Amino acid sequence: MRYKYCPNCGKKLTKIHAGDDGMVPYCEPCDKRWFDSFQSCVIVLVYNEFDEIVLSKQWYLSDEYTAFTSGFIKPGENAEECAVREVKEEIGQDIENLEYAGTYWLGMADQLMHGFIAYTKKNDLVLSEEISAADWVPALDAPKTMFPDKPGGPLYEVYHKFLKMRGLEES
Ligand SMILES: [Zn+2]
Repeated sequence: MRYKYCPNCGKKLTKIHAGDDGMVPYCEPCDKRWFDSFQSCVIVLVYNEFDEIVLSKQWYLSDEYTAFTSGFIKPGENAEECAVREVKEEIGQDIENLEYAGTYWLGMADQLMHGFIAYTKKNDLVLSEEISAADWVPALDAPKTMFPDKPGGPLYEVYHKFLKMRGLEES
């Protein structure tokens, strides 16, 4: 988000010089600099002992393609806590092991996605209302229904990191 008005008091912002960052939007009454900001989210690939992964459909994203568990990081929460919480909320799984899988900039949404690969034993999925469908799918079958992503994109990169980690594709 690029600020034009102060989110505190609503006054039109001016600019102030802020060291290496150059000129940044500034509210004089509040004496606060409003740096450009963006949302931080997690994207979590969940797999089990059979190398199956959870693919789900979120009604607000797509009714055609599937994706991994994802969600917004809440203030006061770190990315790891968010990953554990979102997986529990969306598909009812308790993560046993969580690996960081890098960050990815999602330009179309102005979001920084924190990627994770999470392990849990195979259990029935318990879906939240946000999820219209979800299932355990053999990892190598995932691209048949996965949202088409490209190198550099969060879905693509986390998926391929997982394949490499599990020795499921040539590196
Ligand atoms: Zn202000």
